[in-house]
Amino acid sequence: MKRTHFIVSAAAALIATTGFAPKRYAVTHSDAEWRRILGPDRYAILRENGTEPANSSPLIGEHRPGTYYCYGCHQALFSSRVKYNSGDGWPSFWTVLPHAVEYQTDHELIGEVRTEVHCSRCGGHLGHRFDDGPKPTGWRYCIDGLSLRFVPGHAA
Ligand SMILES: [Zn+2]
Repeated sequence: MKRTHFIVSAAAALIATTGFAPKRYAVTHSDAEWRRILGPDRYAILRENGTEPANSSPLIGEHRPGTYYCYGCHQALFSSRVKYNSGDGWPSFWTVLPHAVEYQTDHELIGEVRTEVHCSRCGGHLGHRFDDGPKPTGWRYCIDGLSLRFVPGHAA
């Protein structure tokens, strides 16, 4: 059997058995490159699904018009128009820009299933989405400030 055929077969078997297809993102880096680009604190959140301490982000009190971008790949994620004070200790938004994120189920906490929010362009972990947010969506995007870069001015 040729090696390429074996790899394709192995990938197909993986998908068949797990339902999980390895994803290629538009922006990718080696692990060493991500560590250099992000630094240790942002790396822990974006690449290792970490969470920053509650009430640690200066972006919680950021109320100027502007756009919040992914720190890993600069994709626009959130508009200041949908930011609100949830009081949960992290920057909070009630919706996200179209196609900017994707979702994964987080089973790390026993007995609690949470919805992880990831950047759709680089796969970086941004935070979680909960269903106790305000109208009109009812969503609360609870986002780690370290995963974001805020640019004041134009609100996407
Ligand atoms: Zn990104």
